[in-house]
Amino acid sequence: MRPTEHAEQGLNSSHSVRPRPLVPTDPRNPAPSSQATRRVMQAIHGKRTGLEVKLELALRTGGVKGYARNAMTPVGRPDFVFGRERVALFVHGCFWHRCPVCRLPLPKSHRAFWSAKFRRNRARDKEVRNRLRVRGWTVLEVWGHELGDSDRVASVIARSVLARRKRQAQRRS
Ligand SMILES: [Zn+2]
Repeated sequence: MRPTEHAEQGLNSSHSVRPRPLVPTDPRNPAPSSQATRRVMQAIHGKRTGLEVKLELALRTGGVKGYARNAMTPVGRPDFVFGRERVALFVHGCFWHRCPVCRLPLPKSHRAFWSAKFRRNRARDKEVRNRLRVRGWTVLEVWGHELGDSDRVASVIARSVLARRKRQAQRRS
């Protein structure tokens, strides 16, 4: 979770919503080499938000309740948060987070830049995951390609949340 993302999603930012940039905001980014590249980047970027929308749709259709989007946890703001059960849910784009199943190819130009960027993305995912788990959270990560089977995704999430609920009830009794 980068501080810039926090700033954009902060409580006070509702009046200053900036349009999502077409390319990552990192100033070290190479400029897209052509219109075609730019369109590809745009499509990929648009997809990321699309994944969150898709996942939310899967949750709603599957009757999964009790989550908040981007709610605050001890470790930033996951995409979806079941606060009471302490379940953090992330949806990862297969390209940006380097899905081990899809293994999408690196962009052809600026390879060193991209592989460093992807390494950072993965390192950050891992760090967030570990920090949440250490604090007693269950971390669920959904890959973009898994959203093709939204029923399955919803039921896996529902099972996890339910398991947490049961454990919490047992501890109370
Ligand atoms: Zn994938």
